[in-house]
Amino acid sequence: MNNPHAELWGGALEKLQREIGAESVDLWLHPVEAFKLENHILTLKVPNKFFLNGIRDGYQKRLEAILKDLAGEPILIDYQISQSLASLPTAADPIPTPTPQSDFASTEFNPRYTFESFVVGDSNRLAHATAEAIAKKPGTQYNPFFLYGGVGLGKTHLLHAIGNHIRRSSPRAGLLYTTAEQFVNDYINAIRLGTTDAFRSKYRSLDCLLIDDIQFLISKEKSEEEFFHTFNALHGARRQVVIASDRSPQDMSQIEKRLLSRLEWGVVADIKSPDLETRIAILRKKADVERFYVPDDVLVYVASSIKNSIRTLEGALIRLKAFTSMTGSALTVDEAKEILKDSVSPEDLGPVRVDTIQRMVAQKYSIDAKDLKGQKRTSSVSMPRQLAMYLACEMTELSLKEIGEFFGGRDHSTVLHARDKIKEKLSDPFFLELVNRLQSDIRTAVETG
Ligand code: ADP
Ligand code: MG
Repeated sequence: MNNPHAELWGGALEKLQREIGAESVDLWLHPVEAFKLENHILTLKVPNKFFLNGIRDGYQKRLEAILKDLAGEPILIDYQISQSLASLPTAADPIPTPTPQSDFASTEFNPRYTFESFVVGDSNRLAHATAEAIAKKPGTQYNPFFLYGGVGLGKTHLLHAIGNHIRRSSPRAGLLYTTAEQFVNDYINAIRLGTTDAFRSKYRSLDCLLIDDIQFLISKEKSEEEFFHTFNALHGARRQVVIASDRSPQDMSQIEKRLLSRLEWGVVADIKSPDLETRIAILRKKADVERFYVPDDVLVYVASSIKNSIRTLEGALIRLKAFTSMTGSALTVDEAKEILKDSVSPEDLGPVRVDTIQRMVAQKYSIDAKDLKGQKRTSSVSMPRQLAMYLACEMTELSLKEIGEFFGGRDHSTVLHARDKIKEKLSDPFFLELVNRLQSDIRTAVETG
């Protein structure tokens, strides 16, 4: 490297890579070129807006600090979208000689599962960025792509989004979305019918294989072996392989080592449970698509009550919509609560005890659980005490009087007052989120004893 700016940039990348690992640096910063350094501003050429946003949100601060260290003076980062790369037609096909295969060309992808309909947040940013990069240039950088995460968090959606995108830009590409289960069935049938040759040539002629729920292969030795060979053939020919799983590679130790190590050759990204903001954004987007008006407080209520699966979130929206189409009026939070009471907060985990609630609330506010029963009236104790009473009202079957007994023999009107006070405060979405978290922690505590 002979340009001072390129050298500086190279040094910064090396340093960042030592801090955060090669994976993220490769994904986000490898496609970037440092292109000039003027007046303490280092201008980076980035392939598109997507990278620009990703780098700015994820790395800029740290990079500027590193640059300052290296250069001995403050250096700011600026961006330019690189025309040549941005305008690169995806039809300049990175896929070697696409094989027109009528049965694959007709593989149907779910038209609703696109990148446009996918809401990006911290929980899925890397997974989404990788998927999008692959869709634009399959078979090049991120191969294989191993995507994992819990149920209902968008893995299948991203697989289809890749398929939809490639189908649009390269209509004749050999694409196949399948589940590992389907793969196994196909294989078993092929053995039964003596058509394993056809089976192999079908899979091995693909340009892009999108295989879902790979965990199904665990302990299916023969099929796993067959998949291993399919994988090798495709990967060796620089065809794209995308694999989704409900668990991480490390948690698939039952899968043969040699297959695992190959899965880890490329990029591994996970999808986590979305945070509150992302859940609200997802609900809002889905409601918009459905042309379904949901008041903000209801959106916040639903998003704060359902945390783990986006599928459940969607299901809730559908139920709410069915309800409003009957009544024709805008929803209220209380109605939403009533409609969703079965899908929200599974109550089948056994009774919640007041002392569990007290213990968890005390822990949350770093106070002594005894103080919740005592007479102290300082705000550091009285608010948590009210919250614990509120939770006892919500989460147990006890009467107000009985609950009062658990709080140092307070009378029922004190409990009632506490409950109303907290209810008022729930209009603050962040407090609501805190309370919901606490409830689910309490339930987990009940569940795990
Ligand atoms: P998984 O395969 O991980 O179990 P899915 O891809 O089937 O989950 O997603 C479940 C539902 O949630 C789908 O309807 C999908 O469209 C939706 N979904 C998941 N993630 C998002 C997201 N980030 N933005 C919008 N919708 C999403
Ligand atoms: Mg799925």
